[in-house]
Amino acid sequence: VQDALKDIISLCKRRGFIFPGSEIYDGLANTWDYGPYGVELKRNIKNLWWKKFVTSRHDVLGLDSSILLNPRVWKASGHVGNFSDPLVDCLACHERFRADQLLEEKLGEGCCAGKNFDEVHQMMVDNKIECPTCGKTDWTKPRAFNLMFQTEIGVIEGEGNKVYLRPETAQGIFVDFRNIVDNVRPRIPFGVGQIGKSFRNEITPGNFIFRTREFEQMELEFFCEPGTELDWYNFWRKYCFEWLVNDLGVKREKLRLREHAKEELSHYSNGTTDVEYEFPFGWGELWGIASRTNYDLTQHQNESKVKQEYIDPVQNKRYIPYVVEPSLGVERLLLVLLCNAYEVEKLENDERTVLHFDPKVAPVKVAVLPLVKKGKVKEKAEELYQKLLNRWNVEYDETQSIGKRYRRQDELGTPFCVTVDFDTVGEGESDPAKLGYVTVRERDSMKQELVAIDKLEAYLFEKLGC
Ligand code: ATP
Repeated sequence: VQDALKDIISLCKRRGFIFPGSEIYDGLANTWDYGPYGVELKRNIKNLWWKKFVTSRHDVLGLDSSILLNPRVWKASGHVGNFSDPLVDCLACHERFRADQLLEEKLGEGCCAGKNFDEVHQMMVDNKIECPTCGKTDWTKPRAFNLMFQTEIGVIEGEGNKVYLRPETAQGIFVDFRNIVDNVRPRIPFGVGQIGKSFRNEITPGNFIFRTREFEQMELEFFCEPGTELDWYNFWRKYCFEWLVNDLGVKREKLRLREHAKEELSHYSNGTTDVEYEFPFGWGELWGIASRTNYDLTQHQNESKVKQEYIDPVQNKRYIPYVVEPSLGVERLLLVLLCNAYEVEKLENDERTVLHFDPKVAPVKVAVLPLVKKGKVKEKAEELYQKLLNRWNVEYDETQSIGKRYRRQDELGTPFCVTVDFDTVGEGESDPAKLGYVTVRERDSMKQELVAIDKLEAYLFEKLGC
């Protein structure tokens, strides 16, 4: 099954979706650059999320907080003290791994919850955990490893102030809670959504873009009255799941909600669910949805001494709000959408690779293909291309045979190809009945239909749904 991922990685490079980072310098492991089609895909994902979770909702506001924050934020949030993972070295080949990840691969997610490092070590021994590199089972004891990247503010090396690159966008939202409540005056319940880069010095990044050290998150912190949080938690679980299936076209049978058992819950959480997807390498977390009680705001109130209470003007009550947080990685979702869309389809005497993206997700919506690259056919095709460009991301392609051009668009996931031929422009021995008509070919069915040029935009708009 892993081959499926290899084929997707190869397609992503070949077709300009995702390139290995710093490639001309032999690369930098586990960094990826998003090429011309990848960047469109990412942009579509972020816009769709923003619309669904922020602008289309009367009760959610947007935010863009900074990546560098006062280090006390990370003390309050617990990231300085606790955001560390049990690092183990293989005694035979000296490769380094996260003990909890190795154990979870064998025993299932959450198996290390609540265990201290000695207990984790004992689990490694008892379960004869093999080194993924050399297969040996001799390990060092786990050591704490903090995942936060450090850097310095200040011009002279060594004299600056230590700061961290944020490992999540969420804390930026909590830190601005007071500002939002005092200046924008939303009424609870309300949420604040943010999209931005996060950084984690992951020990074992991998599986293409599944786990990287630099990634983007789309996070929502939904503030509500204490006692209502579990209703909101259920609401957001459903909302997230349905969005994936109904709006983005993710196959329902490839998704599952995995609710954390009591022992697995973080000490501050009274409910956590992972939305998991069945990747070619197995089930993995796509989206974490957590009811975080009032932990974060309380911690910030204690550390900053600035009150984080909300005063309810209707009920005349004051309280520190409870929070429900759906947290999703942009690249994780992108990988899900690639895996979900990818198919090598057997045809009668041939096969084709196709990305069955939902049109809303597809990086290119329409390709305009002139049958020949000269004369009236080319002129008409270029005119059409310019017109459609005002509305969508459209490609113009006049190289190679029509068949090859269709295959290329299939691999990009372009929902529609529009072909301009001699009949369209009435050149040569053309069919007068087809004058002013173009051929529209649909990606999934490969069916072709004649459409009048003056009806084309409306036709495409209806079929694309965006
Ligand atoms: P893990 O235990 O696997 O390291 P986590 O449970 O700590 O992950 P969260 O903190 O819940 O992850 O992160 C929320 C979401 O952010 C994840 O569901 C995932 O979509 C995304 N994410 C987290 N870490 C990474 C990463 N290293 N690379 C890409 N996406 C990530």
